[in-house]
Amino acid sequence: MQNVDHLVIGAGAMGSATAWQLASQGKEVALIEQFGAAHNKGSSHGGTRIFRLSYRTPLYTDLAARALPDWRELEADTQEHLLEQNGQLDHGYKEAIDEIAISLDRHNRPYERMNASEAHARWPGMNFEDHVIYSPDGGRCFADKTVETLINRSRELGAQVQLNTPVLSIALDGDFAIVETATQTWRTPSLVVAAGGWVNKLIGHIVKLPDLIVDAGQPAHFQPKANLAAESYWPSFLHHGANGRGGSPLEASAYGLYTPGEGFKVGTWSDRKAIDPDNRDFEISQKHLTEMKEYVAHWFPGLDIESAVATTCLFTNTPEEDFILDRRGPITVCSPCSGHGFKFVPTIGKITAELALGGKQNTPRWQLPN
Ligand SMILES: Cc1cc2nc3c(=O)[nH]c(=O)nc-3n(C[C@H](O)[C@H](O)[C@H](O)COP(=O)(O)OP(=O)(O)OC[C@H]3O[C@@H](n4cnc5c(N)ncnc54)[C@H](O)[C@@H]3O)c2cc1C
Repeated sequence: MQNVDHLVIGAGAMGSATAWQLASQGKEVALIEQFGAAHNKGSSHGGTRIFRLSYRTPLYTDLAARALPDWRELEADTQEHLLEQNGQLDHGYKEAIDEIAISLDRHNRPYERMNASEAHARWPGMNFEDHVIYSPDGGRCFADKTVETLINRSRELGAQVQLNTPVLSIALDGDFAIVETATQTWRTPSLVVAAGGWVNKLIGHIVKLPDLIVDAGQPAHFQPKANLAAESYWPSFLHHGANGRGGSPLEASAYGLYTPGEGFKVGTWSDRKAIDPDNRDFEISQKHLTEMKEYVAHWFPGLDIESAVATTCLFTNTPEEDFILDRRGPITVCSPCSGHGFKFVPTIGKITAELALGGKQNTPRWQLPN
C-alpha cells in the first residue's frame, strides 16, 4: 500500500492542471493516466481550442477573465507560448449578441458590434448572420502543447507521474480513498478524479453525479483559399444560429478557429449519439461530414470545402453544459468540463487544487447534486 497526500486520476487538461497547481504549492501529489501524454482518446487532444470572454452567461465570462492572467502565469512558469489572443467573433440572433455585450461590459472589455455585411467586408472568408460582435480578447489555446507542458512541469515540481497506468477500482475506507492499479494500491485522503468521459465508470458507484452525456464530436479542418491564406482573416468564431442549436445560453450551432499548420477548424453538432469511451470506433461519420461541408459551403466562402480533414473528440456534458468542481469526503470531482472547458484550464487547476486542500465549492452551478 502506497500512501500519498493527493492522487489525481486523469492527465487530460484538467487533471494535469490540478497536479501542476498542487505541485507548485509544494504538495505531495501523484498523477495517474491510463494512456500516454496528450493521447487522442479523450477530450483534450488536438492543436487548438477557442479562448473567449464572450459568453452569454456572466459566470463564464467572469471565469475567462480570471483565466487570462492564470494563462500568463502558466506561460511565465513554463516559458511556453500557450494562449494567443487573435480575436473572437460571435454572430447570430440579437438576444445572444446583446447578452455577450452585457457580459463584456461587466468587465469593461473592449468589443465592436457590426452587421453581417460590415463583418463580411472585414473578414471576407466568412459569411455572417446579423448580429455580429468582435472581441479582441478572444483567440486560441494550444491544446496538446498545454497538456504536455502541464505534465512536464508537474513532474519538474516533484509530482509522481505514471502514464499508461489504468486505475482499475476506487473504494472508500473511512476518510481515505483506496485506488487500485494493476501493480499498486494507493491510499490517500485526497483523491481528485479528473477522468473526463470515464468519470461515471470510475466513481458513479460512490459519488452521486448529475446525468452525463458522453458522445463524440467531429470537427474538421479546412484549408483557406489562396487569396485568404493570411491568419489575420481567421479569428475564432461562434455561430448562435437562430434556426439551429443555439437556444440556451451555453449552446451555439457552430464554432471554429484557425489551427496553425492544419487550417481552419469548424465544428457543428449534428449526428451525435451517446457512446462508451472504452468502445469507440473512431470512425468518421460521412453523414456528419456531408452536413458540415454544406454548412461550410454556405457560411465560409473563403474555405476549400474539398480539403476537409475530420477528426473525433470525446464530449462529456452535463445537461446544462456546466462543470462539476466539487468535493465529497476524500473525493474531489473535476469533471467533466463539457464542450467548453479548455479555455479555463489553469484556473480550473487552481479551483480544483483549492477543493483538494479542503476548500468549499460556493458556486451552485458547479456543485455535485445532493
Ligand atoms: C471537439 C471538441 C472541441 C472543443 N473545443 C473547445 C474549445 O474550442 N474551447 C474550449 O474551451 N473547450 C473546448 N472543448 C472542451 C475541452 O477540450 C474539454 O473541456 C477538456 O479538454 C476536458 O478535459 P478533461 O481533462 O476533463 O478530460 P480528458 O482530456 O478526457 O481527460 C481525462 C483523462 O482521464 C483519463 N482516465 C480516465 N479513466 C482513467 C482511468 N481509469 N485510469 C487512469 N486514467 C483515466 C483519460 O485517459 C483522460 O486522459 C472541446 C472539446 C471537444 C471534444
